[in-house]
Amino acid sequence: MSGARHPSTTAAQAALDNVGAELRNRVLPWLQTREGLASAGMAAVVLWILWAPVSAPLLTALLCAAFAVVIVSLGARLWEARTAPPAPSFSLTADVARSGVIQRDRNAGFWRDQRGFLWDRRVWFAATGCPPCRLRPQTYRLLRAWTEESDLPVFIVRRRGRQCWWWRSAFYWESGDYSPQELRTLLLMLDRDDLQGLAWELTLHPAKPVPEAVKQAVFQRDGGRCLVCGSGDLIQYTHVVPLSRGGSNEPHNVYLVCSGCNRGQTETGAPGPVGS
Ligand SMILES: [Zn+2]
Repeated sequence: MSGARHPSTTAAQAALDNVGAELRNRVLPWLQTREGLASAGMAAVVLWILWAPVSAPLLTALLCAAFAVVIVSLGARLWEARTAPPAPSFSLTADVARSGVIQRDRNAGFWRDQRGFLWDRRVWFAATGCPPCRLRPQTYRLLRAWTEESDLPVFIVRRRGRQCWWWRSAFYWESGDYSPQELRTLLLMLDRDDLQGLAWELTLHPAKPVPEAVKQAVFQRDGGRCLVCGSGDLIQYTHVVPLSRGGSNEPHNVYLVCSGCNRGQTETGAPGPVGS
């Protein structure tokens, strides 16, 4: 009997840990948005009205509070959909990936507005072939700080198999799934117009992007989150053993990492305890 109790307590422990992780990674960030604040406020008001002056049963009060959260969330979705910026024509181009592995993107850039839910501040980024995507203001501040702290390119977003980067006040995209360190070497050549050197480098070390099927499998396996810190922001694919050191593009050698953890990763190798 005592032997049977042990697995169930560890299962309960695991379930508790999961709830804790969900709270940390999803609920707390949501509560910091205007949608989260408005939902929580609305639920509290509904609960109070039904509980104190009306004295409705607790279950009814809880159900009505949950309903209020759903209504506020739907309202926020509708508001965001109606105030989303129109996509510039360059961002809708579909066939950019054919023209090379690395390119400077003169169309790309950030802009801000204050038309989010309840006039929330929003930061947008769009590039060639990349329709406007929304960044949280704190994410943008982080990206900016990184560009000032070091000379490594800063990963912004992945769209249509390409990664967009910010480096020395210019924007670039590449379709080779490069790490910031690898990309910097190539961008230095591009920056000094050493196109011959760049072409030679790309012939010697051709880009080996992670196949889409592997990306999908890895994304599912890792739950769409950075394996190092658990963040769901600025997610990239990276290798446990780098390709340059004989690593492969097999799922067991690829894992999800956020841009911040990827930058902190030293030359000595990857931190990921992947292998299960
Ligand atoms: Zn991370």
